[in-house]
Amino acid sequence: MPTPPFRKPGPKRSSAAPSSAPVLRRGTVRVSGDVATRLRTGHPYLFREGLGGRPLNLPAGEIIEIVDDAGDFVAKGLYEPEVIVAVRVVTRDPNETIDAAAIARRVAEAKRVREALLPKEGMTAYRVFHGEGDGLPGVTVDRYGDHLVSHVFSSALEPFLPALYDALETSWSPSSIYEQKRYKPQAGDGPKAAAQLVRGAVAPVEIEVVEHGVRFAVDVTAPLGTGLFPDLREGRRAVAEHARGRRVLNLFSYTGAFSIWAAHGGAREVVSVDLAQKAHGRARRNLTLNGMTETGHEFVAADTFSVLARMSERKREFDLCIVDPPSFAQAKGRIFAVQKDYRELVEAVLSVTASNALCLFVSNTQKMSLDELDRAIGEAAVRQRRRVRIVERRGLPPDFPVPAGYSEGHYLKAFLCHVG
Ligand code: SAH
Repeated sequence: MPTPPFRKPGPKRSSAAPSSAPVLRRGTVRVSGDVATRLRTGHPYLFREGLGGRPLNLPAGEIIEIVDDAGDFVAKGLYEPEVIVAVRVVTRDPNETIDAAAIARRVAEAKRVREALLPKEGMTAYRVFHGEGDGLPGVTVDRYGDHLVSHVFSSALEPFLPALYDALETSWSPSSIYEQKRYKPQAGDGPKAAAQLVRGAVAPVEIEVVEHGVRFAVDVTAPLGTGLFPDLREGRRAVAEHARGRRVLNLFSYTGAFSIWAAHGGAREVVSVDLAQKAHGRARRNLTLNGMTETGHEFVAADTFSVLARMSERKREFDLCIVDPPSFAQAKGRIFAVQKDYRELVEAVLSVTASNALCLFVSNTQKMSLDELDRAIGEAAVRQRRRVRIVERRGLPPDFPVPAGYSEGHYLKAFLCHVG
């Protein structure tokens, strides 16, 4: 059992404290040896269970010092009440103050990493700040051309956002910064609010960005996705590298990012499948932006499982299938949950996969581990009596740095499989 955290009792509340427990000052929590080791070796989160069930009664964004059994310093971070992640670790340096200057240092360092690792030309859509990996867990910031979009996942970050946006303006001089809050109540059910303009001037609804020289139209003001997920870039590159001469099937195609890259890589034909007709409209726009025509492209607005069943009946086959489902979706009253349904999805895909073909299977949620994805593919292969071998693994690109010691941080997994 983890040692309960302990706050110094105020004069009126001293009876609430067990007499044998050591007295720590307000804003300090004590954790067990295991938890301390995990935090010291890179894990950015202190989960609420690590607090030993004791309520802390502190506001969101309060700076907390974490100490071990012996009272030795472990880390400092930001507290959030009620949610599973109680403290987000910001520093392991006991002498560092968590303030605007600390945030500015992190933003500047994050920029140095991007400058060192991303191509200098032909790349205007990428992540400029990846919370956990850049030293401020709970917030991410993406660049789309001259604009920045932040995603805030925790109310603990709220008091520090003005400092973050100041630092982003200093480092990147964006035309605008848009903010998307992704925690309750905003993250709950109901329609999502449009992104909120927090700095600069209103952005046009269509912005053109480039990724390794390929063009995409995005909308930084959109309530959900902008139209291009920077984290899937390595998957797109894998598709481009292997598309030549192949008949490509892009499932859950959204704005067609994989389809455009497949065409760019020389695909013979590309079929894009997505429930949302509107997404296909944007995919067509992306084709035009790259000087491509719709010849050789087919856009199917329907449910993936129905499309695959129909194609299989008609013995239609593909040489490169791209499978990047949402982690959760509802279509025709049927619920798709990635962990539960991935195997069945792979089975259906294999029924339209030619022999000596490739499939790219992607999972973009922490909820599904690399092992689970591997098993889902393996089980589907056995059921379909196909020989499936993983020939390449792709993950997050370098603008999504993951701290060592935090393996769950590699949330995006992509297996390129050879199907015999
Ligand atoms: N692969 C995309 C991202 C997918 S986003 C990319 O590379 O950018 C998830 C997409 O799945 C959404 O566009 C959504 O409309 C679509 N979708 C959800 N359920 C679906 C279903 N049952 N059949 C087809 N598309 C579906």
